[in-house]
Amino acid sequence: MAAASSKKILVVEDERDILQLVKLYLEKEGYRVDTATTGTDGLKAIKSGHPDLLVLDLMLPEMDGLEVCKRLRADLPTATLPIIMLTAKAEESDTVIGLELGADDYVTKPFSPKALVARVKALLRRVERSKEEAPTRSTYGTLVLDRSRHEVKANGKDVTLTAKEFGLLEYLLQHPGRVLTRDVLLNAVWGYEYYGTTRTIDVHVRRLKQKISLLTDAIVSIKSLGYKLKERDE
Ligand code: CA
Repeated sequence: MAAASSKKILVVEDERDILQLVKLYLEKEGYRVDTATTGTDGLKAIKSGHPDLLVLDLMLPEMDGLEVCKRLRADLPTATLPIIMLTAKAEESDTVIGLELGADDYVTKPFSPKALVARVKALLRRVERSKEEAPTRSTYGTLVLDRSRHEVKANGKDVTLTAKEFGLLEYLLQHPGRVLTRDVLLNAVWGYEYYGTTRTIDVHVRRLKQKISLLTDAIVSIKSLGYKLKERDE
């Protein structure tokens, strides 16, 4: 309970019964819960409240969940905010789009609040696990990236990377299982001042795959959006 109590969750849902029920169950688990009932208010609450995780309904007035998700993913500070989408069975095609837009998980309505809480816990655990590896080393199977030495080894052998290839690999290793847009990668690795194009990312991803064979299947392209480094158990 103690660990969970420090985590803040924002629930964006316009159906107030569901909103209250979800809030109640999450609070029972020791989470702090903020709520919003529109997409616009949800975005505002994220900027002011800095939640650790977002539970986002797909069908919302003003701005729907897909648009909220897209905006969050396109903005570096929220690019990796963990998101669980709430969808209805009839919205299955939207669910697929949601995952492509970078939601981390989804729960189909009607759902049991307990099941949702379990998903929240699992996603937060996933995020914590990837954070624990910092600050100096990231590993991915036989791949080891050492930040302090600026070294990368695959299968025990040194891999020579350019500074940007190293930065890109480092960012991917820090966010396994997350969809990262080209803009976000560009901003994270090249910085906001860079005037290159997002194609730069494609070129660098290709070079990483050429240099490190295990990345060939591990880095997947997400249609018209960006890339994802698969989780080790994915
Ligand atoms: Ca709704």
